[in-house]
Parts: sequence; C-alpha cells; structure tokens
Amino acid sequence: MAETTSAVRFEHHGDPDVLKMQDVELAPPTEGELQIQHEAIGVNYIDIYHRKGVYAPPLPLPAGLGMEGVGVVRAVGAGVDGFAVGDRVAYVGGPPDAYSQARNLPAARALKVPSDLTPELTAALIFKGLTVEYLIHRCRAISAGDTVLWHAAAGGVGTIACQWLSAKGVTVIGTASSAEKLEKAKVNGCTHPVNYRQTDFEACVEELTDGAGVDVVYDSVGADTFEKSLNCLRPRGTMVSFGEASGPVDPVAISTLGAKGSLYLTRPSIAHYTAQRSEYEAAAANLFQAIREGSVRAPEITTYALGDAAQAHTDMEARRTTGSVVLIP
Ligand code: NDP
Repeated sequence: MAETTSAVRFEHHGDPDVLKMQDVELAPPTEGELQIQHEAIGVNYIDIYHRKGVYAPPLPLPAGLGMEGVGVVRAVGAGVDGFAVGDRVAYVGGPPDAYSQARNLPAARALKVPSDLTPELTAALIFKGLTVEYLIHRCRAISAGDTVLWHAAAGGVGTIACQWLSAKGVTVIGTASSAEKLEKAKVNGCTHPVNYRQTDFEACVEELTDGAGVDVVYDSVGADTFEKSLNCLRPRGTMVSFGEASGPVDPVAISTLGAKGSLYLTRPSIAHYTAQRSEYEAAAANLFQAIREGSVRAPEITTYALGDAAQAHTDMEARRTTGSVVLIP
C-alpha cells in the first residue's frame, strides 16, 4: 500500500524559490530496494547545479533533489541481502530524492553506519568525505611531502580535505574568500591560507613553492580559477577540475597542457569512483578508518529544517556557509 510522505520537488529549473515541500506518494520498496526514514540529509553543491539545470544532462522535471542521506531502514524489498528493518544506513548517489522524510533507495547504494556516528555527523561527512577519499587516493595518489593547491578550502569538501591531507603530511595551500574562512581552513590543517579575493593566488603559489609549482591543483571553483590554476602546477603536475561553483570551464586546447609542462588534466566525478559496490565499500571503510584515527574530524555543521532547503541553497550560493550543511527532516 502506498503511503504519503513529504518531499522537496521542483517543476522548473531556477532560483532557490522553485523548491517546494509537497506531499508525495511512497510505494512499498520494489525488488532490490530499501525504504528509508531519513534522520539527516546532506546538502551538496551538486544539488544547486541540479536545481539550476546546469549539470548535464538536466534532471527531467518535475524532480526531487539530494544525493546524500542518513536514516533507518523501515522496509526491505525482495531480493535484498545484508540489510534489515531498523538498520541505520547512509548513502551517496541517486536518483536524487534525499530531500524527503522517507524514500526508496537501491540497496546497492546503502552503507551501514558505524554505531558511534550520529546521523547529523554522518550526513556532514559521507558525501564530502567520500569525495575527498577518491580525490586524494585514487584520482591522484597524494603522499607525505607533496604540495597541493586546494580552492574553496573552508567549504564542505575543502574542510575535510585540509584535515585529511594535513594528517598525511601534505602541504596544503588553500584559498578562500574571507579572513574568517581562512582562519577556519587553518584550524582544519591548511598550511598556507590564501585570500584569493585580495591576493593573486598564482603569485602566492610561486612564492610559497620557490617557483617550483604544486604537484596537484584541486579546483572546484571552475571558471574564475581554472586558467590561473594551470599556471600553478609543476611540470608533469595534475589538474583535478572537480566542480564549477563559479561557472563552467571554457574548452582547453590540448596543446596548452604541453606548453605549460606536460600537465595531466582530469574532470572526475564521485559517481564513477563509487559505481562498483566493492570500490564504494572500500572507500567508505577508508573514510570510517580515517574518522576513527582522527585524520578526519567533525566539521562545522550548519543545520536547517528540511522545509528550509531553499534558504540553505541561498546561503550556500551566497558563499555564506563554511563546513557542512545538513537538513533535518
Ligand atoms: P562548498 O561548501 O565548498 O561551497 C562552494 C564554495 O565555493 C563556496 O563556499 C565558495 O567558497 C566557493 N566559490 C567560489 N566561487 C564561487 C561562486 N561564484 N559562487 C559560489 N561559491 C563560490 O560546497 P561543497 O563542499 O558541497 O562542494 C565543493 C565543490 O566540490 C563544488 O564545486 C562541488 O560541485 C564539488 N564536488 C565535486 C564532486 C565530484 O566528484 N566531482 C563531489 C563533491 C563536490 P569561497 O567563498 O571561500 O570562495
């Protein structure tokens, strides 16, 4: 029997006010699915791209939103092994419908949550932590002694990156847009905080590395920073362009990578690095181990009620948030 639940829906791409809470039908879970009662929901920048319709391909409308949730299993579909009613699970991935009281989810995306993690902390850490996990181990293996440039170092992903990289003995040159944000990045392990609104970050990198350049740039800002970021790399360095908070990056001529020093360029997505169940589980185990060891710690968390999702988006887009943003249903 279908039940009714509350969920965020939008019928048009656009500004945050397109997001509306609605009563929606929730059918029993079908084969291979779990039904989850959400306890906490992570807000990620990809939700903003989905809402605006800038992420290719745009979601067919009307659509739900949200790629990260934590909650309790309340029904198990046919053919699902390893999960039972009452288990606390977290997930990263689609289809986007995490902004809801309850939902059905492919069981293949569910991860059991360690008993010492609260739902709110898990929602603050799982999507962003798994992003950092693949970016610094599998997209490009970073080791002690390496130097990286990380943009938006006080944001959700940036905070966890500063923590994890500093625990590995990596020098992090981190950018942010205000003194307050830079202070927070420093507390989280950023070695050299740089205000890229006031200072030329390319010149800073040159000075901080004695002209050598960094091993890797992690650039999620996109349009505003991409070109200068390429100039910050050492010969044979790697450009990891993993987001576009300021807008999409213009096409790059392959010859540019040669001229700037035989550079590597990748545009990775967490979807491709967690698609295989075995990789997804191993990445989660790596993240949970880093949390147990203290390499990854509780970030600053700002919570909003699920019904205030539009306000959460407004604040995130206005660059007012630091650390992780979590919705409480
Ligand atoms: P953040 O909390 O980091 O918020 C985005 C930050 O980007 C802002 O706080 C701001 O920091 C900075 N920024 C720079 N220019 C702009 C602009 N014009 N408008 C808005 N923000 C701007 O978000 P998340 O932690 O959720 O995500 C960080 C990035 O990582 C996003 O770009 C996201 O798409 C990407 N990402 C990519 C993944 C992947 O697998 N490819 C997975 C997860 C996230 P400041 O004010 O300091 O500049």
